[in-house]
Amino acid sequence: MSDAGGRATMIRLPTCPICEKELPASAAADSPVFPFCSKRCKQIDLLRWCEGKYAVVDPLTIERLAEELADPDSEHEEL
Ligand SMILES: [Zn+2]
Repeated sequence: MSDAGGRATMIRLPTCPICEKELPASAAADSPVFPFCSKRCKQIDLLRWCEGKYAVVDPLTIERLAEELADPDSEHEEL
């Protein structure tokens, strides 16, 4: 976890966002599953994305939670 003083700062290989495996530099051009290392990781990402999309669209924040707890009928915003 220490990248200070490391020699990997000049050339940075792309890594799979799922398993963080290093990909060959040519993967961006060659790999049909780039930026993933494999079809499996690509599917995992897709699955995660599907499962998480509601959280992205409508993030549940502390404020929002407090708001809903305080006012369960918050749909009546026209008042
Ligand atoms: Zn992977």
